[in-house]
Formats: sequence, structure tokens, C-alpha cells
Amino acid sequence: MASGKTYKIASIPGDGIGKEVIPVGQRAAEAAAAKHGFSLTWTEFDWSCERYVETGQMMPDDGIAQVKEHDAIYLGAVGWPTVEDHVSLWGLLIPLRRELDLYANVRPVRLLKGVQSPLANRKPEEIDFIVVRENVEGEYSEIGGRLYRGTENEVAVQEAMFTRRGTDRIMDYAFKVAKQRKRKHVTSATKSNGIVHTMPFWDERFAAAGKRHPEIETSQYHIDILTAHFVQHPDWFDVVVGSNLFGDILSDLGPAVAGSIGIAPAANINPEGVFPSMFEPVHGSAPDIAGKGIANPVAAVWTAAIMLEHLGETEAAKTLEAAIEATLQAPETKTADLGGTANTEQSATAIIEAING
Ligand code: ATP
Ligand code: MG
Repeated sequence: MASGKTYKIASIPGDGIGKEVIPVGQRAAEAAAAKHGFSLTWTEFDWSCERYVETGQMMPDDGIAQVKEHDAIYLGAVGWPTVEDHVSLWGLLIPLRRELDLYANVRPVRLLKGVQSPLANRKPEEIDFIVVRENVEGEYSEIGGRLYRGTENEVAVQEAMFTRRGTDRIMDYAFKVAKQRKRKHVTSATKSNGIVHTMPFWDERFAAAGKRHPEIETSQYHIDILTAHFVQHPDWFDVVVGSNLFGDILSDLGPAVAGSIGIAPAANINPEGVFPSMFEPVHGSAPDIAGKGIANPVAAVWTAAIMLEHLGETEAAKTLEAAIEATLQAPETKTADLGGTANTEQSATAIIEAING
């Protein structure tokens, strides 16, 4: 059923292959919109390391206010070797996450048919889970400091901060995601045997959330053994919730077990919808292949699918996912990172044809 709606999307292609794959995602989203009876309008922002080199700013002072006017943000990749990582991170990505309260970082991990997992003999139905990472507090805080610099007695202190509000809301979001899935299971990543203040608190809030959502099964593992289970038993997992640090680790490990980073999608969600959510592929700007026209556009297209799903256009999202999967079945329509022979444009054309076809 066509919604007939129009969605305003802020697009930030960013640096490197971000500029090569975001246009493909836009074309794919447009094709799906035409097919399913809704429209998309795009405002493009040049926020990037390239802009930083020219102007000294990753984005303008009123940048956040500008993107707030949109229904969603579609971001490619930000980062380039000429600009230090902390500049691009603190000049763009972290302000966006924090000021738009994008507190849930969500990475679906699915072994698509036609993609080889680095784990031997894994079938698609055995790798299908979602990592939900707390995105705005926890271990990544600015609280701490250095003492006695340069002396034998030098000390570095870093505090982690877990609030009840911040912990409860990420737990509730993870349980809500689980509710929409078949297996209805949430696993918590913890380390309460070694981290004796924040992690026992995390465990308590997880148990409390479990009581609020009794229809969902739960389990928890310490982060060390959990990473081993991701590799040895990916089929155990449905929704996995982790703090900022543990979620960060798991949300890179997850896509790795499902094959190439060139296909992995991610979302930074403001679940209440007060602010626009932001959708970006897991991969970075890939300076080693940028400008060669060979980047895999699948991660960007899958990310666009998740964006459309978030906007309520579930059928269009399904169309994009089916189109992706169709192009992964033959070497001529997938890129080299997946063992194929296509360049970005050939893969893009195949995806668009599959959407229209
Ligand atoms: P970041 O620092 O932003 O997390 P990174 O520099 O660690 O990123 P990427 O830029 O994602 O990592 O690149 C890692 C490797 O994966 C590179 O060799 C890159 O060429 C490859 N890669 C990343 N994205 C793609 C893609 N879409 N298609 C093909 N190869 C890719
Ligand atoms: Mg990098």
C-alpha cells in the first residue's frame, strides 16, 4: 500500500568511498520509492575532512540545527588520512550522536546468500542477529585526567559513567527490537566479574528490564567469552545489547563474521523520534580503494533499506534487501571484495535493475 508520503533526507556523503556509495544508495532508495508510491527529497551537505582542510570546520556552527529539519540523515563515511581521527570524530560524528540523542547504535548482522562467511560451513540461517550498542555514555566519557606527566609516578584515570536513565532506555530499546523478531531473545554483554561498580549496575538494570518484558528470553555473558561465542556459536544470538565500549567491539566483530565489511549496515537511532535518526554503513572512507570506482555499494544500499524501514516504508525496505540478495548470486553483479568481477557502477546498475524488475 502506497503511503504517498514525502520524506526529507539529509545526505552527508563525507569522504573517500562515502562519495562513491551514497549516490548509489540514493538511486536505489529513489527506485524503491517510485515502486512503492512515496517520495524522497534530498539535501546534500558537504561535511567532511575535505571541508575541514578548506575551512577549519567539519561542519558549520549551525550544522546540527540544519539537519534537525529532516526526517532522517544518510551518511557515507567521514575520515581521511590528512586529518586526525579525533578531529573528524569530535567535529562531526560525536556532536551528531549526542545532540540528536542517537543513543541506540544498531547493527544488523546477517549472512546473506551468496556471501562467504570467514567462519567455515555457516549457513545463512545460522548468522542472523542484531547488535544494539549504547551510543552516548558509558566508558567513552571525558571524565578523567593525567597526573605527574612524564615522571616515574605518572597516572592516567578514565571514569565510565552509567546513568539509570541511559541504561534503562538502551535495555528497553533492545527488548523492543527483540519483540519484533522470531526468536525473542536478548543477550547482555557484561564484565561484572572484573569491573565491580558499573557492570554489576548494568546487570541489575538488565535483570529489571527482563522483568518489564517477561515474554523475552534473556542470557548474559562476560565480554571475553562472548566474543569467542560470536565466532564459535553465532547461531546462539538474536539481539545482543552492550555498553558503549563492549557494543563497539561487538558491532565490528558481528559484521566480520557475516562476511565483507562492504555489505554491513548500521543505524544511530533516536527511538523516541524527537530527532532524526542517522543511517551509515559500517565501513569507513577506505582511502586504499577510494577514487578507483570499485567500492562495494551494498552496505550503503542495505543502510538505505534500514532507513526506509525506520521511516515506516517496510515494503520498500524489503524490495531493496531482495534486490541486494539477487545481485549476490552471480560474480558479474557483485564486487571484488565478495569474489565478484563488478565495479561499483556495474553492481549499482544490477541492484537498480533488480528493484525495477
Ligand atoms: P574507520 O577508521 O572509518 O573505521 P577503517 O579505515 O578502519 O575505517 P575502512 O575504511 O572501512 O576501515 O576500510 C577497511 C578495509 O575494508 C579497507 O581495506 C577497505 O578498502 C575495505 N573496504 C571498506 N569498505 C569497503 C567497500 N564498501 N567495498 C570494498 N572494500 C571496502
Ligand atoms: Mg580509518
